[in-house]
Amino acid sequence: MKQLSDRINNLPVSQTLAMSAKARELKEQGKDIISLSIGEPDFNTPEFIKKAAIQAIEDNYNSYTPVDGYKDLKQAISRKFKRDNNLNYDLDQIVVSTGAKQSIANIAMVLLNPGDEILLPAPYWVSYSAIAILAEAKFIEIPTSIRSDFKITPKQLEDSITPKTKMIFFNSPNNPSGSVYSEQEYRELAKVLEKHPNIYILSDEIYEHINYGVTHFSFASIESMYERTITVNGVAKAFAMTGWRIGYIGGPAWIAKACNKMQGQITSGANCIAQKATIAALDAPVSEINYMVEEFEKRRDLVIKLLGNIEGLVLNIPKGAFYIFPDVSFYFGKTIKGRIINNSSDLSMLLLEEANVATVSGDAFGANDCIRISYAASKEVLTEAISRISKVLKS
Ligand code: GLU
Repeated sequence: MKQLSDRINNLPVSQTLAMSAKARELKEQGKDIISLSIGEPDFNTPEFIKKAAIQAIEDNYNSYTPVDGYKDLKQAISRKFKRDNNLNYDLDQIVVSTGAKQSIANIAMVLLNPGDEILLPAPYWVSYSAIAILAEAKFIEIPTSIRSDFKITPKQLEDSITPKTKMIFFNSPNNPSGSVYSEQEYRELAKVLEKHPNIYILSDEIYEHINYGVTHFSFASIESMYERTITVNGVAKAFAMTGWRIGYIGGPAWIAKACNKMQGQITSGANCIAQKATIAALDAPVSEINYMVEEFEKRRDLVIKLLGNIEGLVLNIPKGAFYIFPDVSFYFGKTIKGRIINNSSDLSMLLLEEANVATVSGDAFGANDCIRISYAASKEVLTEAISRISKVLKS
């Protein structure tokens, strides 16, 4: 009898990955699909990083790596935290993982007990809630809307805290909304958390460098938060290295030690070649990746202009990442191409099947009124995609 565990049966499928797999499958069947579903840079990994990887192969890096990462990589991460984030992390406070997703899963697994509550300001990245489910914790959404630029207020935070609250996840720049918390906004939220010393903070900063004219601020750099914040980052988004799978954390040494133990039983250390390439990425001046960020900004402006012409879409202005998260609720209750649109999932499916454009529905991110469009694609592709979306929505 094929009997899977309750654990896997209760786990939702990752909607970002499912949508991109579906788009790939339809393309393979010969359909002219434009995929704006998954969030990954469409650039090549920069040459200097590729060279470092080739050098590592030539130098015969092929053995198991230390579970928590090569020492020289951890030193580079420590320098990066100091240089970019004003954060001091010693080597025993750093753990390298197979992607930021694994870093987040490690933290959830080592900190959460069944029944603990974890606060997720919504919209949030699809895997946060799924990881909470795996950890048998209860996730509590703190809803926001486009009117508050998808950011929570100190009062909302205070009202959401219960004696069971163990963690909160912050993510700025945010996937899927592109919103960025200012230093002032983070400091006000920190004031609330100061009154609740048992709550840990996970600050996912994977989109740190992809921001448009705003200063990135790390939550852990607030002095009172340092001892209970774990900063998560990686090279996937900023350096166009999604497939290399390198993420890392900086945080309290006792939490890093526990993540090391967890990883030691599940995956061991991250890939040797990718770790060596990551040293080159992190040691390079941030200006090396400006050309990608500048291009993303131009695409953001284009997407805002084109989507702005479509009736009923309400847009925010994303300050970072490469997603836009329009409110599409104007279309709920309407019939388009013979289909009744009841929610974001119906709308996303309509766009896939009638416009041949793959997006991700907002319900996967805890925000049913919206859909996520990734603009990590060329301007020509984006223009064509939005023209198709417009035609279908007009009908
Ligand atoms: N983080 C990216 C996204 O949201 C990659 C896919 C994933 O791991 O969810 O599309």
